[in-house]
Amino acid sequence: MSETILIVEDEPKIARLARDYLEKNGYRVLVAGDGDSGLAMARREKPDLLVLDLMLPGMDGLDVCRAIRRESDLPIIMLTARAEETDRLIGLELGADDYISKPFSPRELVARVRALLRRAKGNVYVPGVIRVGDLELNTESHSVNLAGESLHLTRIEFSLLQTLAQHPGQIFSRAQLLENLHGVAYIGYDRSIDAHIKNLRRKIEADPANPRYILTVYAVGYRFNDEL
Ligand code: CA
Repeated sequence: MSETILIVEDEPKIARLARDYLEKNGYRVLVAGDGDSGLAMARREKPDLLVLDLMLPGMDGLDVCRAIRRESDLPIIMLTARAEETDRLIGLELGADDYISKPFSPRELVARVRALLRRAKGNVYVPGVIRVGDLELNTESHSVNLAGESLHLTRIEFSLLQTLAQHPGQIFSRAQLLENLHGVAYIGYDRSIDAHIKNLRRKIEADPANPRYILTVYAVGYRFNDEL
């Protein structure tokens, strides 16, 4: 059975383009033109993934995102305009899984949908060992090997690496990473994460200036490469 994607988008041209491409790639597609009907449709049709525009008439995308997150883990990709950077951050904090900036290529949308669906399905936490590329993390002994060589990481570096590597492809804001480390959000100290990431890259990346494992998501935060 093909997976169902719900698109909530008020611009008919964009909705149509997204729908056509997703259908061509074998997905069943539903479209809603505003936030209220989108939320109602999400509840009624139980899609496998939601593509959610942020600027919508009536209930906006952030409201829809918040409402859905209270009820389910439905994977959400936000569509945002470049000017909506703050909204994008709020959206990620509210629990959206990914975002695409407009204008976007339909091919990119299909690729993101596919990756997120794959991630959502494999979203089972397996304790023990995480292997990616040449990296091997043991989450019980808190040890890390790179191509067989043992690395010395600080507690914070290990924890950051574990968070990112356990969810390849998922975008984490600096605030989310801080919250993961300390259990609370330290508003205003977001940038301290950058220093830890820099140290971590020096230890795990062959070329820290062109990282292969931990990628920077411009204006948002970091994600672990899911194409390794
Ligand atoms: Ca819109």
